[in-house]
Amino acid sequence: MTLTALAERPSPRKPITADQLDLKLPDELIVAGVERIRECIQCGTCTASCPSGRRTAYRTRLLMRKTLLGLKDDLLKSLDLWLCTTCYTCYERCPRKISTVDTIITLRNMASAKGFMIPRHKEISKQLIEKGHLVPINEANIKRRAELGLSELPPTVHSHPEALNEVKKLLQLTGFTKLVEG
Ligand code: SF4
Ligand code: SF4
Repeated sequence: MTLTALAERPSPRKPITADQLDLKLPDELIVAGVERIRECIQCGTCTASCPSGRRTAYRTRLLMRKTLLGLKDDLLKSLDLWLCTTCYTCYERCPRKISTVDTIITLRNMASAKGFMIPRHKEISKQLIEKGHLVPINEANIKRRAELGLSELPPTVHSHPEALNEVKKLLQLTGFTKLVEG
């Protein structure tokens, strides 16, 4: 899936039509653990608290509204979905104690399963497939580990390169490799 395809979003000025709605979406979120999602009162406290929203056009309240309406395709293709840093401030402040972050993570999982991943995430995921680490060790980390009295390399595939094939096999069996490499 290309970035262009990801960025194709219906204009907010266009009226919403019934065929755009997937009315089962809120129930899918409830099954995934966001039991209180229907209790959202659209107060906007989440948006007002969001550090990401201060620097981008991302609006948490709007994401919640679209989820409740069932605008699934729009949400899953949206770049906004990836602008949340999962800092949990909105969850801490939501007067209805709605798991906003779990909503976002569940939607991200749905988007990834459909192949909507942003290129940067694919790049980082490829490192995991190739090296067994999202962020492989570098000289600075090796030095810092030594200062902390740790072994030069962590007890992962860095120390056990023979385990890398097993990691690769697991990523293949779970379908992760196919998702990332398309
Ligand atoms: S703070 Fe909670 S209740 Fe208010 S809009 Fe956000 S999710 Fe809904
Ligand atoms: S968890 Fe995400 S949506 Fe909530 S305040 Fe933090 S960045 Fe914003």
